[in-house]
Amino acid sequence: MKVFKFGGASVKDAEGIKNLAKILQQYKAHKPLVVISAMGKTTNLLEEVARAFYLKQANVFEKVEKVKLFHKNIISGLFPKGHTVFDDVTNLFVEVEWALEDEPRPEYPYEYDQIVSIGELVSTTIVSAYLNEIGLKNTWLDARDLIKTDNKHQDANVDWELSSQLIKKNIRGEHLTITQGFIGCTSENFSSTLGREGSDYSAAIFASILDAKKLVIWKDVPGLLNADPRYFPNPIKVEKLSFQEAIELAYYGASVIHPKTLQPLKAKGIPLEIRSFVNPETEGTWIADSVETVPKTAFYILKKNQTLLSIAALDLDFIVENHLAQIFSVLAKYNAKVNLIQNSAVSCSLAVDVDPLQVQTLIEELSKNYRIKYNTGLELLTIRHYNQGSEQSILKDKEIILSQENRTTKQVLFVS
Ligand code: ASP
Ligand code: MG
Repeated sequence: MKVFKFGGASVKDAEGIKNLAKILQQYKAHKPLVVISAMGKTTNLLEEVARAFYLKQANVFEKVEKVKLFHKNIISGLFPKGHTVFDDVTNLFVEVEWALEDEPRPEYPYEYDQIVSIGELVSTTIVSAYLNEIGLKNTWLDARDLIKTDNKHQDANVDWELSSQLIKKNIRGEHLTITQGFIGCTSENFSSTLGREGSDYSAAIFASILDAKKLVIWKDVPGLLNADPRYFPNPIKVEKLSFQEAIELAYYGASVIHPKTLQPLKAKGIPLEIRSFVNPETEGTWIADSVETVPKTAFYILKKNQTLLSIAALDLDFIVENHLAQIFSVLAKYNAKVNLIQNSAVSCSLAVDVDPLQVQTLIEELSKNYRIKYNTGLELLTIRHYNQGSEQSILKDKEIILSQENRTTKQVLFVS
């Protein structure tokens, strides 16, 4: 059994979906399980809907229209007029529109999940119908019937035991199967999500539970690159590397893999292949147990939109274990991801990723017990296997806020 994952970029327009179908045509004998994300930038658009709804802004329905129109154009590029898929997709949106008529609940993450999860449902509905249309018979499964989670919305934890039972019962490798990444379901039957870019993680969950031979993540890049081509010129493709190294890279924010994806694969020894959907014939990158990185290279990772929190005790007390534990539990409550920590006697500086909508509340809560200074909109450069001076061209004319280095890794936080 093989598990394939196709991200938003692979299904961003009708051409993309035709290309995906061509790839699946080649592999149909393997009857893969195919995990698909929302189309293009849909999740970002739906996040705007969720925010507008939560903030009770009048333009929330306009924002939904934008998402509907985007999908309608894609469907029109794939199906004849009057095809049932038009209604199927409309019905999915009607559910969201009903929900938007109600008052939002006070818990933003809950509302976020109910709205944003629609992106994957719509996308897989369209892809599955298109494959059927061209004769690639497939089974569509609702991932919410398979991946059960707790109710930590926006970053839900998977109930592995229950999910395992459901997945094994419902997926037997007898058909080409299409399902959604990113989404799951709580025990109260509400939609949950696994965190932004979580479709890779979904694919890894399926691969692990099904003891897949391998997981292939199809991307718009030729494989894992040593730097993000959007920010760095001439990145190098890595042919292979170990899970260990990939986990480090993902942790520091290499955008190619969701950080939680690798552990379940490593635990079962299931290799991960990252391949290009643009050039599906060319070898991609292999990530497997105990392999040396080929070729040996430094890795450059840039994370944007960092918030620096400088935290001091109100009475200039030392920042010690009990304070840190308290600070981190507040950060966890707001799903803030800590990317860099620098500690001195009386203060602690943290570069974090946090939803812009939550920054103020987070700071207010920390301010009850601490003196907080903060800067937003910073960038964090991380270099693995750092060689002296290799960051200089990137950081030319930048205002550096703080930097830190150990034997293998250098991190620099700077003003964009
Ligand atoms: N659609 C979700 C996102 O954009 C999940 C994913 O693409 O992996 O974050
Ligand atoms: Mg995506």
